Amino acid sequence: MRDDTNVGGMNFELTEDQQLIRSTVAELCRKFDDQYWMEKDQAHEFPTEFYNAIAEGGWLGITIPEEYGGHGLGITEATLLAEEVSRSGGGMNAASSIHMSIFGMHPVVVHGSAELKQRTLPRIATGDLHVCFGVTEPGAGLDTTHITTFARRDGDHYVVNGRKVWISKAMESEKILLLTRTQRYDEVAKKTDGMTLFLTDLDRAHVDIRPIAKMGRNAVTSNEVFIDGLRIPVEDRVGEEGKGFRYLLDGLNPERMLIAAEALGLGRVALDRATKYAKERVVFGRPIGMNQGIQFPLADSLAHLDAAELVLRKATWLYDNGKSCGREANTAKYLCADAGFTAADRALQTHGGMGYAEEYNVSRYFREARVMRIAPISQEMILNYLGSHTLGLPRSY
Ligand SMILES: Cc1cc2nc3c(=O)[nH]c(=O)nc-3n(C[C@H](O)[C@H](O)[C@H](O)COP(=O)(O)OP(=O)(O)OC[C@H]3O[C@@H](n4cnc5c(N)ncnc54)[C@H](O)[C@@H]3O)c2cc1C
Repeated sequence: MRDDTNVGGMNFELTEDQQLIRSTVAELCRKFDDQYWMEKDQAHEFPTEFYNAIAEGGWLGITIPEEYGGHGLGITEATLLAEEVSRSGGGMNAASSIHMSIFGMHPVVVHGSAELKQRTLPRIATGDLHVCFGVTEPGAGLDTTHITTFARRDGDHYVVNGRKVWISKAMESEKILLLTRTQRYDEVAKKTDGMTLFLTDLDRAHVDIRPIAKMGRNAVTSNEVFIDGLRIPVEDRVGEEGKGFRYLLDGLNPERMLIAAEALGLGRVALDRATKYAKERVVFGRPIGMNQGIQFPLADSLAHLDAAELVLRKATWLYDNGKSCGREANTAKYLCADAGFTAADRALQTHGGMGYAEEYNVSRYFREARVMRIAPISQEMILNYLGSHTLGLPRSY
């Protein structure tokens, strides 16, 4: 028998407000064209004008609760914002300049004290406060439980020593969301215990920050961070001591969705550029896009981007409706990162030799799309999650 209670339960349409987010962000981003992003990338220069425009538009506080100066919207809206920003041609240079402000503060919103939230969130929403995210360490890699950066309690302070790597935007940031150990790995019963999270000043007197020379996304630095005797007041601790890893886990699914949206946007703009070029470029007396060797890979990318987008929409809907979404969030990140990169690779191929030139921008998209298969979580770790959590196979990690 048909279950009539479920009729109309499936809806693929964005609301009017969500469509407005898309069109307004797209219009704002049009002021920052490919030339702007190419120059920022080549000069290794932070896109301050873009960041300020996004801040002035009120977009940085999209998910920050209204009582702290934000709009209190969901991850669905945040992913629409991220996708449009990336799709504008700004790619990862644009997305990374605002990524942390958009959803990175989730552990603080959920677990931070009212005083910490009041002191930081309104400034993040206005764009005044730049923040970065300090988890990865050279000795631990993806096995976060093996971090060794240590915070020792000293009266009403903690004293921190250690080393982080790949910390994006640390150069430009006033504060860092920093994961430390307050109990050593071999002192805890459960390996995820004994870690503590802080939102604190990157006090340059005790923190040395060195940019890493890298393959792309050069407008935003990623850095080695050496921490030597950094004193952190207890008020900067997020939630309880020893529970930092658990707090971070809360934010992992939305983070995966956000990165998926950025990868999707990059794939879309790459496909747009490839299609345009394939129509215009005439070789052997015909537009190259008439050849199936060029046309089919582009059509195939369209199909893969569309399918990846659907999983992403389902994941954000589940999250915003308070339902479990681990499987969908991981799948969305996996499929969007692959579809985005493949589209960028094909866009480069479609442009032939000119694809390799900076002038046509697709080489920049290609370099930027590549990183989404590695960071913030590698494709292998996504498959590990699906294999062990969803399929119930034994864990390798
Ligand atoms: C541009 C960029 C920006 C970044 N920004 C930040 C940031 O702002 N903050 C931050 O904290 N970190 C940041 N990172 C770090 C990023 O999150 C890590 O690089 C990423 O999580 C991978 O960790 P790793 O480099 O240590 O790889 P490793 O842990 O050394 O792994 C190496 C390879 O082995 C694979 N592997 C390892 N174990 C397994 C297993 N059990 N099964 C299958 N495969 C396995 C991995 O998938 C990977 O391909 C950034 C990285 C990059 C490149």
